[in-house]
Amino acid sequence: MKKHAFLIATIYLFAFMQSSYAQFNKNVVIAHRGAWKQANLPENSLASLNHAAALGCHGSEFDVHLTKDDIMVVNHDKDFYGIDIESATYQELLAKKHPNGEKIPTAEEYLREGMKQKKTKLIFEIKTAKAGKERTLQLTKMSVDLVKKLGAEKWVEYICFDYDAGKLIHQLDPKAKVAYLNGDIEPAQVKKDGYTGIDYHFSVFKKNPSWIKDAHQVGLTVNAWTVNDAEEMKSLLDQQVEYITTNEPELLFEILRKKKS
Ligand code: MG
Repeated sequence: MKKHAFLIATIYLFAFMQSSYAQFNKNVVIAHRGAWKQANLPENSLASLNHAAALGCHGSEFDVHLTKDDIMVVNHDKDFYGIDIESATYQELLAKKHPNGEKIPTAEEYLREGMKQKKTKLIFEIKTAKAGKERTLQLTKMSVDLVKKLGAEKWVEYICFDYDAGKLIHQLDPKAKVAYLNGDIEPAQVKKDGYTGIDYHFSVFKKNPSWIKDAHQVGLTVNAWTVNDAEEMKSLLDQQVEYITTNEPELLFEILRKKKS
């Protein structure tokens, strides 16, 4: 009788896990700063995030900086339409708007928007601070705290150029997926330091032709950025990379469709 109850509980638990975890799109496509180019939307805007989700991307990447008054905001460049983010307060950044009328999103607003859907992962880039290592690590800790506070762990995968930032993420949340961006460390070492993936510029894999295989051998995922050319995309797909980060998600989807048929 006891055994029977245990079996039923296990089946229910499994069904629950399937329904709550197994719904992200399974494809290689990661929209770089959201899907903005073809749709003529601002990079890193909520609109570009929503468009990436509408296209069915596996992930939508975005960049996070810290303002002078410790607010995490989403933008690629170190300035938001001419206002230097690190030396400005959040209020000061509100003086400018994206051409579509959006203000600069906070990381919290961005995550909350992304969590309205369950198909596209949120690829959270910790930007390296100009002010130095301490500030970068402060942003890192605040980012992990925010993700935990919102319960966004299921959606978020981290990426960073600062090697210590990724190691800190692993310390703070050992289950977190985190990939290294800078392309200067071989896969085995990256794995040893707690990362779950490498996310290198595609030229790095040309210079180090064994690194994709090496990474797979030690159990790292491989992502290549920023790949906008059809031939480069095809070559990386042939090499079985898990993810391709691109400004042209529509083109990558078209290549995937042709490959299937
Ligand atoms: Mg980025």
